[in-house]
Amino acid sequence: MRVYNFSPGPSALPLPVLERAAAEMTDANGSGQSVMEMSHRSGDFKAIIEKTEALLRELMEIPPNYRVLFLQGGASLQFSMVPLNLAAVEPGESKRTAAYIETGIWAKKAAEEGAKYVEPVIRAGSADKKYTYIPEAPPPDPGDAYYHITLNNTIVGTRWPSLPPAGFPAVPLVADISSSILSEPLDVSRFGILYAGAQKNLGPAGTTVVIIREDLIGHAHPRTPALLRYDIHAGEGSLYNTPPCYGIYITGLVLEWLRELGGVRTMAKLNREKAELLYSWLDRSRLFYSPVEKPFRSLMNIPFLSRVADGEKRKALEEEFVKKAAAAGLVNLAGHRLVGGMRASVYNAMPIEGVAALIRFMEDFERSRA
Ligand SMILES: *Cc1c(COP(=O)(O)O)cnc(C)c1O
Repeated sequence: MRVYNFSPGPSALPLPVLERAAAEMTDANGSGQSVMEMSHRSGDFKAIIEKTEALLRELMEIPPNYRVLFLQGGASLQFSMVPLNLAAVEPGESKRTAAYIETGIWAKKAAEEGAKYVEPVIRAGSADKKYTYIPEAPPPDPGDAYYHITLNNTIVGTRWPSLPPAGFPAVPLVADISSSILSEPLDVSRFGILYAGAQKNLGPAGTTVVIIREDLIGHAHPRTPALLRYDIHAGEGSLYNTPPCYGIYITGLVLEWLRELGGVRTMAKLNREKAELLYSWLDRSRLFYSPVEKPFRSLMNIPFLSRVADGEKRKALEEEFVKKAAAAGLVNLAGHRLVGGMRASVYNAMPIEGVAALIRFMEDFERSRA
């Protein structure tokens, strides 16, 4: 039996994608091989990676002066690659500053890792209220090497309601879009670099997508390892070394599925419906609530806490909820260990029926406590 999987990542994939991958497992596209067995230099694989890039370009309306790279190392490696390729200096030289907007735990990690190569300046943040809102974003400071934001904050469940003020591209806007890529339309031309680990909205873990404006390629610090240089990957069409072939293939199938569904605009409409359903129920609930301020609520990750005041009792209730939900086929609803409570991640592949099933479960659970 398939469950409704609310995991924050790796997360649910569309069933038709899994079924197609299963059907093609031992013989992909008449090649007589699994995609896992193919040479990454073969014509068969070249067709796969080219199709995947073309679909991503079409769906995200990526302008021609941007390159698409399929890399490894997760979104976390981009926390190092961005500074190494845009702003690193020799040891002993004074570091360049880079703006970071600290809207969550991943944003904080990005700044901490960046600090090895640049001087991160937290130009705004929301740590004061446990990241439950998105702060007013200051205009870019012309001295900063780049301006880093996390568009959707997976752990705390916030999303930027609009992009930071103009002033770019003088200071490139860099965004971690791991948990929101393709969830709603995004104006790629506003950004210098976009990056996303695949395991939330794109495919299996192990593939990272980087979308980078061409003029930002070619500035890596000379001692940057080859595998961490955007210019090397761009020059070789993401085939400098063996890429995550199977992950790229599945990503391609997910993108085909999304296009058949009607593309990003249709997806965004469905995502808004799902989120609205869940938030409006939470706002009416006497037992649960959303800790996130309304204008900043994520469409993809929806944490909720119980209203029980006593800490011990609250913890027991939340544990019981997660356990009973799993027994009812609603899995991976535990909140992040740093936030507690529950979290429903409702990425593109989560059907509205899954959200409806969760709400029915929560209603029953609440009634049994009344
Ligand atoms: C999941 C996630 C990450 C970490 O991704 P890895 O691929 O595990 O490195 C970073 N940023 C955001 C916003 C995420 O959701």
